[in-house]
Amino acid sequence: MNCREFVEFLMEYLDGGLNDAERSVFEGHIDACPQCVNYLDSYRETVRLGQTVCESEDQVPDSVPDDLVRAILAARNA
Ligand SMILES: [Zn+2]
Repeated sequence: MNCREFVEFLMEYLDGGLNDAERSVFEGHIDACPQCVNYLDSYRETVRLGQTVCESEDQVPDSVPDDLVRAILAARNA
C-alpha cells in the first residue's frame, strides 16, 4: 500500500468497512509511515469537530483545515 491508497482506504477504515486482510495492510502502512499517522490524526480530529458542530456521523465540515489539505496533497505526491 502506498500513501495514495492509504487515503482512499481511510474513510472505510474509520467506518469499520475493511475486511481483516485490508485492515492489516492498512495498519501495516500506519506502522511504516509517520506522515500517514499524522494524516489519520488530523482526519479524525476534523471528523470529531464536524460531529460536534453537526451532530452527524456522515458529515465532514466544508471548511477543511489548511494543514489537512497539505497532508492530503503531500500524501498524493509521495
Ligand atoms: Zn503513507
